[in-house]
Amino acid sequence: MPLDVRLLDYARDPLAKLYGAYRTCYTPKTPGEVWEEIADGRIAPDDIRAFVAERLKTGHASPLEQVVFWFGIGGVSRSLSHQFVRHRIGISFEQQSQRYVRYREERLDYVMPRTWRERGLGDDYDRLMGEITRVYQAALAAGVPAEDARFVLPNATPTNFQVMVNFTELLHIADLRLCWRAQWEIRHMVALMRREVLRAVPELGGQLQPKCGDRRMGYCDEPIQEWGRCPIGKVRPHKEQLLDLFRRQGAGGMAPLGEADLRSVEDAGNEEEAAPSGGAGGPSAPVGP
Ligand SMILES: Cc1cc2nc3c(=O)[nH]c(=O)nc-3n(C[C@H](O)[C@H](O)[C@H](O)COP(=O)(O)OP(=O)(O)OC[C@H]3O[C@@H](n4cnc5c(N)ncnc54)[C@H](O)[C@@H]3O)c2cc1C
Repeated sequence: MPLDVRLLDYARDPLAKLYGAYRTCYTPKTPGEVWEEIADGRIAPDDIRAFVAERLKTGHASPLEQVVFWFGIGGVSRSLSHQFVRHRIGISFEQQSQRYVRYREERLDYVMPRTWRERGLGDDYDRLMGEITRVYQAALAAGVPAEDARFVLPNATPTNFQVMVNFTELLHIADLRLCWRAQWEIRHMVALMRREVLRAVPELGGQLQPKCGDRRMGYCDEPIQEWGRCPIGKVRPHKEQLLDLFRRQGAGGMAPLGEADLRSVEDAGNEEEAAPSGGAGGPSAPVGP
């Protein structure tokens, strides 16, 4: 059965929301004043885009939580849904119920991985699904409640979701699930979610990459043998390669962190506390609020 992924909606003016959130951190103006400038055109849309694009290159990620997307997802397997609902922060799911929805014969479609057909077992798979359908429907017909009849349904059973997710979490989901090591069905679904966002808000859709992407962590941290097999491995480096380069460049000692190293970090913190004067920043101003 076909996978159906649609971007149902997204919170209005996502780039303005990001501009306002970031700007609030860096300006003496109030958010109300910043939003007046957006509304009356004193801040041009191109300037908003350019400012947000620069911010997206940094690790200042919390404003991204203020951008929200809604997706309708249909025709995915329960095998996928078990994985999807493990994401628990910044995402909200509503999923078709197997208690309230009874699968009728013409609707008890199921998802079949193509490997079953490729290995010549497609007919066995179809037969088994047919038998499960028969037993499920016999149970319903005999008065077994749907919440009990569903115990025989397989991971291949299709399911539907409406999902609300913020952009921070969507980036994280893409990090993990666009990775070649993720399971094919969820990888395909997240790729379609990415395409939808890319169509609606290209500035944000383009940020959705697997974690090795140039806009994300930048390198692969999966086992190096897996990196060797990954098609994207041809264009993205592995962590071990980068560390090796660092070692060979003599750029650092590469020793495990010792107590003395950690104390040097602690001391820097104490210095800050000991010198509260000096205004709002300067060349060595700490990163962060
Ligand atoms: C390739 C792959 C293989 C997997 N294999 C298995 C497996 O064999 N068995 C299994 O059980 N699961 C497996 N999983 C699922 C995985 O363990 C996670 O449950 C799933 O990816 C959800 O991601 P998350 O934990 O980052 O949650 P999210 O909700 O997506 O997390 C969002 C962010 O919040 C952080 N966060 C969430 N909750 C907390 C918290 N309580 N405290 C602090 N920080 C928090 C996360 O670390 C993350 O940075 C696999 C996932 C992948 C991608």
